[in-house]
Amino acid sequence: MTYDDYFKRTVEQLKDEGLSREIKAVLQGATGPWAQIDGKRTLLFGSNDYLSLSADKRIQAAIEEALEVYGSGSGGSRLTTGSYMSHEALENRIAADKGTEACLLFNSGYAANVGALQAICDKDWTVFSDRYNHASIVDGIALSGAKLSRYRHSDLADLERRLKADVSEKKLIVTDGVFSMDGDIALLPEICKLAQAYHALVMVDDAHGMGVLGADGMGSVSHYGLKNQVDIQMGTLSKAIPGVGGYVAGSKALIDYLRNHSRSYIYTTALPAYVLAGSLKALEIVATEPWRRERLRALTAYLRHGLLEARFNVLPSETPIQALIAGDAETTVALARLLLEDGIYVPAIRPPTVPKGLGRLRITLTVEHTQADIQCLIERLLIHGKTLGLI
Ligand SMILES: *Cc1c(COP(=O)(O)O)cnc(C)c1O
Repeated sequence: MTYDDYFKRTVEQLKDEGLSREIKAVLQGATGPWAQIDGKRTLLFGSNDYLSLSADKRIQAAIEEALEVYGSGSGGSRLTTGSYMSHEALENRIAADKGTEACLLFNSGYAANVGALQAICDKDWTVFSDRYNHASIVDGIALSGAKLSRYRHSDLADLERRLKADVSEKKLIVTDGVFSMDGDIALLPEICKLAQAYHALVMVDDAHGMGVLGADGMGSVSHYGLKNQVDIQMGTLSKAIPGVGGYVAGSKALIDYLRNHSRSYIYTTALPAYVLAGSLKALEIVATEPWRRERLRALTAYLRHGLLEARFNVLPSETPIQALIAGDAETTVALARLLLEDGIYVPAIRPPTVPKGLGRLRITLTVEHTQADIQCLIERLLIHGKTLGLI
């Protein structure tokens, strides 16, 4: 058997189980609600561009201006020759918006989670991690060598039982602020109380909260008014902020520590200046255009009302991520395929990304969706949901 045979056979097996991952090419101008897929005009409900800023001309102008001045590359890592004024400007802006002393940029949200957890924790730590946390958190914990204690999703009794039983000197509780596949918000006030009682650090991954939650758009921590109680606020600049990059915001002591210990921060080329200019402009828009968040909330309520009225099994969520449970992998894929034939794209999420039997359509809304778009989705779902016996 050659190694290629081995690779092929493994993927074949996934295909047999209906679980292989293939890339769907989405050809389009920008990530708006409408796109061309296989030459067909298609309505998209799968983007994380919640605020519909990806095609924003003001952001593009800022990017072009920086590109003109600084060029396309950064030329080195942050600690060698790759640091620009714009790195500091963006770090300061995020820290100010989040209400923390300092902030550190990473090249992606993935790199931020892996880099922070690897740097902060070692074998003397126990990390208490929600079962539904993002894969980058799971990978960061593995890389750190810390003891992992996975608690049941948003189950505070389970978390407390584990905290009580643990004998490690150093403890960290880490959770998604908004769970990426379910859309529900973490129970942060209760988690912070437990952290205080058991002398643990709290880290929140706000990839899907940033720009969307809180009166100021600063995410789940702001939504609950917990700015001084969450020690480590991590997030990404690739979702509502429509670029690329990740960050960790927290105390000056924490950020100085990460700058010296985070391998995914130290041993990588810095983000180029034009990327930073785009994120800076996007943050300005997040702060000055709260109507985007209000509109998103109204659209979310409209969609939920329609789905629940049709008696679909929709997970509880007040965010633009709405999970319509279809069950096994085959039914989930079949539903997504029927919608695609109608010109509607909704991603089908299957195990191992979600637990077995909880295959789902992950419907996401953006500011530029209209009520008519949503009505169209609901009408088609009604027809196919009956065909597949879901309603
Ligand atoms: C998307 C995501 C990340 C990773 O961010 P990238 O910038 O895409 O690397 C981390 N955590 C959560 C919860 C996410 O949804």
